[in-house]
Amino acid sequence: MKACESNSILARAIAAQEAMVAARRAIHRCPELGFEEHATARLIANRLRDLGLEVRTGVGGTGVVAVLRGASPGPMVALRADMDALPVYEETGLPYASEHPGLMHACAHDMHCAALLGVAAVLKEYACRMRGAVVFMFQPAEETDGGARAFIDAGVLTEHEPDAVFGLHMWPDLEVGKVGIREGPVMASLDSFDIELAGSTAHGAMPHRGRDAVLAASAVVIGLQQIVSRNVDPMEAAVVTVGTLHSGKARNIIADRAVITGTVRTLGEPVRELVASRIEEVTTMSARACGVESHLTYDRLLPTLANDERMCQIAAGSAQEVLGPGCIQHTKPSMAADDFSLFAERVPGCYLFFGCTTAGDAAYPLHNGHFAPSEDALPIACAVMARLCLDYSHYSASQLEGRFGSERQD
Ligand SMILES: [Zn+2]
Ligand SMILES: [Zn+2]
Repeated sequence: MKACESNSILARAIAAQEAMVAARRAIHRCPELGFEEHATARLIANRLRDLGLEVRTGVGGTGVVAVLRGASPGPMVALRADMDALPVYEETGLPYASEHPGLMHACAHDMHCAALLGVAAVLKEYACRMRGAVVFMFQPAEETDGGARAFIDAGVLTEHEPDAVFGLHMWPDLEVGKVGIREGPVMASLDSFDIELAGSTAHGAMPHRGRDAVLAASAVVIGLQQIVSRNVDPMEAAVVTVGTLHSGKARNIIADRAVITGTVRTLGEPVRELVASRIEEVTTMSARACGVESHLTYDRLLPTLANDERMCQIAAGSAQEVLGPGCIQHTKPSMAADDFSLFAERVPGCYLFFGCTTAGDAAYPLHNGHFAPSEDALPIACAVMARLCLDYSHYSASQLEGRFGSERQD
């Protein structure tokens, strides 16, 4: 019974593939940057209204929220998709390639939106068997930082009080049909730093009369690289990247100013705090040794995305019901960040990675102008996420709290 219901969910997701592909390609053709997803939001809202869902638009800027209610009271499950594109020039040559030169859905957010629209369509057919409700959250501006925060600040979580939150990301490192699920940290925390160095100018032939910001910047950059190699436990993960360094106006003038910007990624709070405090010390001390003043601006942007152990077990069970044993891949954590972490920080959740590379094909990475995920991943993601909502809605509170592993309370 269980298996046949799961098979029928996959069959219904496959039946919904054409509509999902159409939505995906329409979104793909017209990529929009963060907080500018007006056409994307309109398309999503229209499809959800066609399904008869309660739809709210303009949430946290351009976000869309819709609720699908089951037949009886029960838990609230939140599903999240992101809607924004990237400033990337598309080079796929596909017939439905971006019509906005310089903008592209190179992070598969078009696929995430289409998959969730598919989930809404499939779950609508199962609503009579579903307890509780599902809230669909189409969030703006994942890439540009601030989308999830604006969405949460708009009161989405307090209004709907979800008991669990699930998100999905297409993952080119995995083949179509594989699902990456991992307990604990899966994506990194994200911090940024800006360092301004102020010295004084002099003739390049008389450096002793100035205070050299180029030298100070060089010392700071070298010092920053020693934090991961000499301060962080080798068994922990951390990245300190200096992305820009600007200084100087002429070859024969001692520079009085330098600006450094960079990013920090870690997989946990203790190492995050360690790196932040060492950046401050290294910056101050290195600059002072060069007789240059320093000013550091350090912003903590996103926490580590940590999956809840029990939500992972539920998600893995649902994926296996739909795709069979062997579909789960224990992927390594990524040092990229995703603002789904702000949801997972507040509500027990799991971020699922769906394979989107056809076996034997070359996989272009996310954010690459050649990235072209297989649309065969759409019905798979749709079926697993729909199954997950149904499964979750039938677990009892005690099963969710601890005595997990028994059958669903059907
Ligand atoms: Zn991205
Ligand atoms: Zn993304």
